[in-house]
Amino acid sequence: MNILFMGPPGAGKGTQAERIVETFEIPHISTGDAFRLAMKQGTPLGQKAKEYVDQGLLVPDDVTNGIVRERLQQSDCDKGFLLDGFPRTLAQAEALDDMLSDMGKQINHVVNLKVDRSLLLARLTGRRICKACGATYHVLFNPPKQEGVCDKCEGELYQRSDDTEEKVGTRLDEYISKTAPLLAYYENKGLLREVDGEKEIDTVTSEIVSCLKGQAE
Ligand code: ADP
Ligand code: AMP
Repeated sequence: MNILFMGPPGAGKGTQAERIVETFEIPHISTGDAFRLAMKQGTPLGQKAKEYVDQGLLVPDDVTNGIVRERLQQSDCDKGFLLDGFPRTLAQAEALDDMLSDMGKQINHVVNLKVDRSLLLARLTGRRICKACGATYHVLFNPPKQEGVCDKCEGELYQRSDDTEEKVGTRLDEYISKTAPLLAYYENKGLLREVDGEKEIDTVTSEIVSCLKGQAE
């Protein structure tokens, strides 16, 4: 099953992706994670991405499309994949269609996590991530058992440098102007599934699983 997760920054895509990829046994492909790893390693890709990520702006399409094309060609994607945070522009969506058609594949479901903008600032500024395994927490809404420590692997939790009030504003503006128009693109293809991302994390997971298994109305 080939799945796309859409929704604004903070909608819960990464949180839900962690669970859905376990259920469906498919790889989780997050362009944001790929950029953060490259930035940490200081590779040329990381240096390029940093110019944009640090400002809360989208990385240019040619850079982003290149890493997705390379990743989708790896053999673990043969059984399916979950793309989280890509595509984010119309040009990326069209490039993705081309890549998949070259590989004889297509997207089966696009899940849009709907969350009102008023909730996103609190979600993003309270987000904490495990340095070791990448698991996502929230200081209030999904706290770890022990403050600052990952429940799963005991790794140290950190706050992303772009999860500040100032950068969140830019990131949400980028989402509204460049990414939200993609919802119509996928609606027109009959692929869009809307899920209420404001509910509890477990409820959202169940609703996504229902959509993916075709049991939702
Ligand atoms: P995204 O990947 O879409 O940017 P995340 O999955 O990282 O979003 O979630 C953003 C923050 O909101 C995290 O701190 C996460 O723990 C929290 N969160 C995710 N889903 C929910 C939810 N349904 N209710 C409350 N908080 C949530
Ligand atoms: P995310 O982890 O999805 O919140 O992404 C973090 C940052 O990485 C974004 O603010 C962008 O700067 C960059 N990024 C991630 N995915 C994309 C994409 N598909 N297109 C452009 N930039 C992206």
